[in-house]
Amino acid sequence: MTTSDTTFLPAPTPFGVASFLAREHGLYIGGRWRPSESGQTLESTNPATGRPLSTLASGTPADVDAAVTAARAALADPAWRDITPLQRGELLHRLAELVEANAEDLAFIESLDNGKPVAVARAVDVGTTAKLFRYFAGWPSKFEGATIPLSPRNGLRILNYTVHEPIGVVGAIVPWNFPMSMAAWKLAPALAMGNAVVLKPAEETSLSTLRLAELVEQAGFPPGVVNVVTGAGSVVGAAIAAHPGVDKVAFTGSTETGRAVTRAALGNMKKVSLELGGKSPHIVFPDADPVAVAAAASDGIFFNQGQTCTAGSRLYVHSDIYDDVMSALVDHARRIVVGPGQDPATQMGPLVSARQLATVRSYVESGLDQGAFLATGGSRPGGLGEENANGYFLEPTVLAETTHAMRVVQEEIFGPVLVAMRWTEIDDLVDKANDSPYGLAAGLWTNNLTQAHRVAAAIKAGTVWINCFNMTDPASPFGGYKQSGWGREMGRGVLEQYTETKSVWVNLT
Ligand code: NAD
Repeated sequence: MTTSDTTFLPAPTPFGVASFLAREHGLYIGGRWRPSESGQTLESTNPATGRPLSTLASGTPADVDAAVTAARAALADPAWRDITPLQRGELLHRLAELVEANAEDLAFIESLDNGKPVAVARAVDVGTTAKLFRYFAGWPSKFEGATIPLSPRNGLRILNYTVHEPIGVVGAIVPWNFPMSMAAWKLAPALAMGNAVVLKPAEETSLSTLRLAELVEQAGFPPGVVNVVTGAGSVVGAAIAAHPGVDKVAFTGSTETGRAVTRAALGNMKKVSLELGGKSPHIVFPDADPVAVAAAASDGIFFNQGQTCTAGSRLYVHSDIYDDVMSALVDHARRIVVGPGQDPATQMGPLVSARQLATVRSYVESGLDQGAFLATGGSRPGGLGEENANGYFLEPTVLAETTHAMRVVQEEIFGPVLVAMRWTEIDDLVDKANDSPYGLAAGLWTNNLTQAHRVAAAIKAGTVWINCFNMTDPASPFGGYKQSGWGREMGRGVLEQYTETKSVWVNLT
């Protein structure tokens, strides 16, 4: 069934993508594609044009129920339950290979659905997804229990050992900023540890996850091990979070929704892990090179249209070099090419939705109302052409002379808006950097190693980058202090969050 007008797709769109978009997409439950139980659909939009891109099923609580039942059946299916750890690893390797083999299609789908440049989707979204599956493919055969040297008690000799078992059904709820890789952050460790998953992508950007589900099937995962239910957060997401058959919910999204998910999870006391919002300080010391650091600060915020949970959205520059950094930063921001993500020249695409654009614009207004100075940006970029007249574009924006009481400094904007402040005294700087409900990440630029390590130790954030920014790796733990989350994703530590540990006591006497 043709559901999108593919004549509006930009010229270099791969053929496979056009035919994928033209299909009406169902829910993936128990290894089958099927419509929503209500028959309702929702439309995905191309944010560069505002036009419909593809049609997908709008799931209901009954669909979530069916997906949970399928996941429970998969956990009991010998085809999943009884395969060896090495075989589980092989399935994940095969999935990584399929992601790599389909990289171009996946990158275009992500770019058309989310707005980001194809080059970013290719390198970051698709690249990270493949790397995650490969990294976690190695763990099933290596995540060992322990033998614990207990002293004899009451004259009995005891052997005590631990084993790691799957938690069961994992409900994974993910946002729209890095749609497929956020899904992979949860799928990879969950599958490596032998769980079954009910996955809900964001309603704005479900397409790459649906394509990924096809690859999961092609890789040979048994039916029901991975289920995808698309639809509204308040319906499908809420049903997953509350479902008594879900043993753990792994959520990435806003802090506000994270609270709702946690409350809903209380019913059956399911395990909860949360990756939430951020308002990360990006700190420049007086010895930094103003031009190099301005480029880094610009990339730190404008990468992915500012829609990055770790975006370096609060810039603190030492007053000695503030003017030099700000003039280089404004120059850098003005040179960023804004346009549709499929144009190879584009460096920054549109925001994900009309709603997100309106939110971000209202933050800019609020900053100006509260006395900030518009150093650059704030408007719709010129020269976009008729085709993109209704796209959700905003110029890279810098608000200077901001103060801590302003909403633009306190709240997560989640768009291409940087707030800049001067600092002079280091203790005051650290207090201000920590004066946030969030604690996801921070960046520091200095050659003074003593200062760098002192400040890194004092900052309350899950990740601190020194002379680099926005780097992640499947082997390195990622997560937030304070209201930025519960638990860590990636690295060895995340495996604990996808397993139950059983302590077994044996009387050897
Ligand atoms: P969001 O909280 O609005 O939505 C996230 C997901 O939750 C979506 O799939 C949505 O449909 C679903 N949802 C909405 N209401 C729900 C409910 N009541 N119950 C269950 N699920 C529900 O967030 P967003 O706007 O999609 O994403 C932006 C936010 O995500 C930002 O705050 C950003 O910082 C955060 N984020 C954090 C990380 C991290 O790793 N810490 C990574 C990416 C994004």
